[in-house]
Amino acid sequence: MKVIYHPDYQKVYASDPAAEAGRMEAISKELEGHYDFLEPEPASEDDLRRVHTQSHIDSIKRNPLLYQAACLSAGGAILAAKLAMGKEPSFGLIRPPGHHVSADHCWGFCFFNNIAVALAKLKEAKEISRAFILDFDLHFGDGTSNIFEDSQIVYFQPGVEERQGFLKEIEARLETEKEYHILAVSAGFDRHEEDWGRALKTDDYRFIGKLVKDASQNICQGRRFALLEGGYNHRVLGKNVKAFLVGLE
Ligand SMILES: [Zn+2]
Repeated sequence: MKVIYHPDYQKVYASDPAAEAGRMEAISKELEGHYDFLEPEPASEDDLRRVHTQSHIDSIKRNPLLYQAACLSAGGAILAAKLAMGKEPSFGLIRPPGHHVSADHCWGFCFFNNIAVALAKLKEAKEISRAFILDFDLHFGDGTSNIFEDSQIVYFQPGVEERQGFLKEIEARLETEKEYHILAVSAGFDRHEEDWGRALKTDDYRFIGKLVKDASQNICQGRRFALLEGGYNHRVLGKNVKAFLVGLE
């Protein structure tokens, strides 16, 4: 298990809760010493163009600090996916998050769609054709869902909000999936009982991680990676990410 991280992810590039000071440090200090950290390169504009329109890219570019941060985040996703293809599970401890970004617009603290940029790059290189994305963030990843509509890259988020039902829905869906080249996870932790969603327990993240690991071993030779999306209570965020990685590794 490798953790993708860059010291520049600590930079505050906006005034939203995902960009808040101390958020990344709250997670990195829980993971340091347990996992190897790898530093990514920023995504190139060509990487972004596979999923975003030029006008969207240009709109982010008008704020150079934000553009730099968003490219480095997408670059972290690309590295995480690349490692996963080599059968090294990985977690992108990246920000800004990405699942609310469609081809030509964004909202919800997201600027480029990290998971889409990473999978589109693998697809163009013909390393994959089919991928499965599990999103367990509190919020629906409308951007990812829009980008991969009518594609062999399938986006899934459980519809049940109640804790047991939510977990059961993930379990049931992963058991029925058979033909994918890689499993990707939009890992948001804002559904935790001490975060905005007030639902999941810390150990539930370990359980979900294990479900993804087992499914990837059954379906796609263990190829799996996850990327940070939401999660805003700095007091519990690090231990929730750690629990998920314990299950996923
Ligand atoms: Zn969220």
